[in-house]
Amino acid sequence: MQPLIDQHGRIATDLRVSLTDRCNLRCTYCMPPEGLDWMPADDQLTDDEVVRLIGVAVERLGVREVRFTGGEPLVRRGLVDIVRQVRSLDAGVEMSITTNALGLARTAHALAAAGLDRANVSLDTVRRRTFETITRRDRLDDVIAGLAAAEAAGLGPVKVNAVLLRGVNDDQAPELLAWCLERGYQLRFIEQMPLDAQHGWDRASMVTADEILSSLSSVFRLSPASEPRGSAPAELFHVDGGPATVGIIASVTRPFCGDCDRVRLTADGQVRNCLFARSESDLRLAMRSGATDDDLADRWRVAMWGKAAGHGIDDPTFLQPDRPMSAIGG
Ligand code: SAM
Ligand code: SF4
Repeated sequence: MQPLIDQHGRIATDLRVSLTDRCNLRCTYCMPPEGLDWMPADDQLTDDEVVRLIGVAVERLGVREVRFTGGEPLVRRGLVDIVRQVRSLDAGVEMSITTNALGLARTAHALAAAGLDRANVSLDTVRRRTFETITRRDRLDDVIAGLAAAEAAGLGPVKVNAVLLRGVNDDQAPELLAWCLERGYQLRFIEQMPLDAQHGWDRASMVTADEILSSLSSVFRLSPASEPRGSAPAELFHVDGGPATVGIIASVTRPFCGDCDRVRLTADGQVRNCLFARSESDLRLAMRSGATDDDLADRWRVAMWGKAAGHGIDDPTFLQPDRPMSAIGG
């Protein structure tokens, strides 16, 4: 086993697999109202190809955590089967999903039975109007039902990811935290990143981690959690003395690139060594041209070696990647 090491000494053990670039919501910070030019069906990896590449990662490259994402991974028809096949490859690998939870109420039990360990659900507000403003869909009840189903199916601890937008929901952080605490969900706020398809992100107007902490502190007593953060991107804080916590993922204002252990595989079989990478390595073409598992593992290692030291968002020469978040896999 030769791991995915880069020239700065980091080892990637956490694989994010995008299963589709399509989505049934239209979050304003992610994509335009009309959606995007979706990936042609032939470009997308088949279920067997996805499982084969995950197998290469787990069996030859030391990957220990697999997270399914997208786009919206629940719209991928073969999802339950893919989970089952990955579980049969390796009983110990941690398997989770990042989802908007639409339809999770129907599939949570099947996913848990197939071997999924945990669910992370994206929810930016618990107010119906605000939800509709952000996602451009009136589906808050489905998300709430999906969260409850995930918990009931044993896909916990359920984590909730939230993005705050200035003038839209930035005054709702304490309310969202109270709602999550009541239900035992672990809330993490994510700073908005320059990964939207419309290129509308603006450093000056994004809501920063400091602002989020100050807003939460007006209602809750926060103290830094003593556990070391390691490669986990969220800085954790005990709420009102604990044991409950809230997390802040300050990708922009307090980057954690030095501890990054992630690698990404897009739905069309491209390895990306960073969310913000400007180049990719095409495993789909290699695979469809007859590459062996050893060849694929070698290509993957080479792709990882070139990972940049940091994302460079604050660098004047920073260029947003061509692919938006929904086509990379967040
Ligand atoms: N559709 C699924 C979902 O929303 O959970 C999975 C894919 S989505 C791209 C993954 C995560 O990225 C979500 O938590 C979403 O809020 C977050 N996200 C999307 N665009 C973002 C951006 N520009 N900055 C920060 N987070 C973003
Ligand atoms: Fe869809 Fe997730 Fe993007 Fe929202 S953040 S539009 S749910 S992919």
